[in-house]
Amino acid sequence: MGLVTTKKMFEMAYKNGYAVGAFNVNNMEITQGIVTAIAKAKAPLILQISRGARQYASMSYLKAIIDVAVAENPDIPISMHLDHGDTVEICKQCVDDGFTSVMIDASHHSFEENIRMTHEVVEYAHAHGVVVEAELGQLGGIEEDVVGVEDVSAHLTDPSQAEEFVEKSGCDSLAVAVGTSHGAYKFKTEPKLAFDVIEEIGKRLPGYPLVMHGSSSVLKEFKDLINQYGGNMPDAMGVPEAAISKAAKMAICKVNIDTDLRMALTAKIRQVFAEKPAEFDPRKYLGPGRDAIEKMVEHKLNVLGCTGKASECK
Ligand SMILES: [Zn+2]
Repeated sequence: MGLVTTKKMFEMAYKNGYAVGAFNVNNMEITQGIVTAIAKAKAPLILQISRGARQYASMSYLKAIIDVAVAENPDIPISMHLDHGDTVEICKQCVDDGFTSVMIDASHHSFEENIRMTHEVVEYAHAHGVVVEAELGQLGGIEEDVVGVEDVSAHLTDPSQAEEFVEKSGCDSLAVAVGTSHGAYKFKTEPKLAFDVIEEIGKRLPGYPLVMHGSSSVLKEFKDLINQYGGNMPDAMGVPEAAISKAAKMAICKVNIDTDLRMALTAKIRQVFAEKPAEFDPRKYLGPGRDAIEKMVEHKLNVLGCTGKASECK
């Protein structure tokens, strides 16, 4: 099977109380680590590409890597998703480039403009058999690392707005602000997710798939390795996995993971450099990084509850 959309994945995830992992790809090793774990766990998969990834690796290289992953894993439903498209044009371009899912993130615009831009992307994407994720509400960000959960919670998605937004824009899934934040320095204290907001949106939009961004956990294992081997990330803090598991059982059908991939790779590279300072073969430090990603993703799939769900999502 070739690339698929997220339609069936979200339908099953909603019905059976789990979430599909959406992992950011930036190079071959990261992709291989993710896909090896997915193949072992027999889980559905969303591989997502950000603007930064396209600038770093180029679209054609990333697409070629994903094409190989798809060809080698015919039993696994894989969707290729644009992460945070900020203009209508880039979303249309990605539809033309073979993405099966695109995100238009116009959440920084006014409510009306967000609806207008999302609707324009929806019309184009649907005409080409591609699904659309939009965003409503605001998360904390990497640059805003001093912003605490109090401020994040002041910009939560308004459930009644969410209902109106989905009706008017026609988007297929909605990224909501429920207390999560992008990056490794999300919170000063352990965050509390707004499960009441997820529940309320779920009541207003029954069966409708929601998406959680900024939901890496900043795993202690990797944070400790990074700090032990010359890194400096003492204040990194993520979303507790128990909270992610709980959200995944609710209307959250897609959980984005990027920071945890980066930290797994960085931790292992630092460890090899520290323990074997004479090492200069990239395979000898990227390899362990890739293995760490594989183990981390396997663990994450259990947190999301999607292990073994590949066949029902086809
Ligand atoms: Zn995001």
